[in-house]
Amino acid sequence: MGQSLFEKVWDAHSVRTLPSGQTQLFIGLHLIHEVTSPQAFQMMRELALEVAYPNRTFATVDHIVPTDVRTRPFADEMAEQMMQAIEENTEEFDIPLFDMHNQNQGIVHVIGPELGLTQPGMTVACGDSHTSTHGAFGAIAFGIGTSQVRDVLATQCLAMDPLKVRQVRVNGLLGKGVYAKDVILNIIRQLGVKGGVGYAYEFAGAAIENLTMEERMTVCNMAIEGGARAGYINPDDKTYEYLKGRKYAPQGDAFDRAVDWWKSMASDEDAHYDDIYDLDGSSLEPTVTWGITPGQSLYVTEQVPAPADLNEEDRDVANEAYTYMGLQPGQPIAGTPIDVAFIGSCTNSRISDLREAAKVVQGHKVSSKVKPLVVPGSREILKTAEAEGLHEIFEEAGFEWRGAGCSMCLAMNPDKLQGRQVCASSSNRNFKGRQGSPTGRTLLMSPAMVAAAAIAGEVVDVRTMM
Ligand code: SF4
Repeated sequence: MGQSLFEKVWDAHSVRTLPSGQTQLFIGLHLIHEVTSPQAFQMMRELALEVAYPNRTFATVDHIVPTDVRTRPFADEMAEQMMQAIEENTEEFDIPLFDMHNQNQGIVHVIGPELGLTQPGMTVACGDSHTSTHGAFGAIAFGIGTSQVRDVLATQCLAMDPLKVRQVRVNGLLGKGVYAKDVILNIIRQLGVKGGVGYAYEFAGAAIENLTMEERMTVCNMAIEGGARAGYINPDDKTYEYLKGRKYAPQGDAFDRAVDWWKSMASDEDAHYDDIYDLDGSSLEPTVTWGITPGQSLYVTEQVPAPADLNEEDRDVANEAYTYMGLQPGQPIAGTPIDVAFIGSCTNSRISDLREAAKVVQGHKVSSKVKPLVVPGSREILKTAEAEGLHEIFEEAGFEWRGAGCSMCLAMNPDKLQGRQVCASSSNRNFKGRQGSPTGRTLLMSPAMVAAAAIAGEVVDVRTMM
């Protein structure tokens, strides 16, 4: 029987089995940012340790950077301290830093692939949950905690429990107005937010193969929201084409040799999976979350479910969600008024996301009741979008066009919801208080759906505007 990509990558990076039964796994690429690294560097200093592989370690700033005025020192003292810490730490430990003025700066999960740092067959680690994004390239990528950031800095290794592999096959082709975001929201809706615990998800099937590399990143980005420790897609010609010529990808003959190796790391046709789940991609519709977990979603044509329609174990969190969100069971989600529209985050801030949203926006004006933001995921995306005139389309419609960063995904910067505002958001988490206000409410959806909601002033089916 053949092996899955997960097994091949795991075996290729396994240093030894530890007495605990865990695997000591070598990490090919370590990405760091300003929020989860300061304590790790402090521990390194206290233990008089050096960074084992500075040439496999890259730093960017994203979570706390303001997306409008970027003058230093920042008004937020804690943000300024974090920025100073990453500047000092990367200098002391000789690690490249893509700071706010560097053309390579952006959200960590956007710039890794964009720069060709993320490659098939690799292990990737970063102190951020959505590191699973890098799996879109056939890498096995783990979000890690601060003490593990220290471990990887000091040893370039992680102690990891082996995972089972579930192949999630999305069959058929997606309909008009249905995007990668709708695919992953429906996978999480069906399998649950804890359905992937103990698993890596291998996304496969015609609908996945048909996605662009950017769309594949959206799917893998939210694997973690379904409980999976990692999510990946086997590399193919689209993957190699995307990587060719990128700054840190192999060049010339080395690229051709790399492609041969990358191909060998893809899952064998007769690979064993611990579980297989099939989803009909052709039946999916634009999807919106109605609750306080990414699993609480529905088609834009549906009504908020009644407790009786839910599994017993889902009813408590549903009751919590009705109260927090101010929605009633049986209420259509379409027509829900919004106050803020946010297009951004490591899930959906790439150039193809902005192009799709701009197509919806073009020739329209944003509702006067809505505060709309477009935040490109990297300075490179911002530059490309401006060269294409996308910023003008957004600005003419009434959107604010911002600098690259995490912005309102997490609101560790000045972009925050106020009070009970409702935000149509292309980000990945709709947890209580996620967007900066303890009572703020988030409706997750695709960037095109956010654009449509911004214009209508309420949740609307984007297919009616195409
Ligand atoms: S955009 Fe959001 S999820 Fe992604 S890295 Fe930034 S804060 Fe984390």
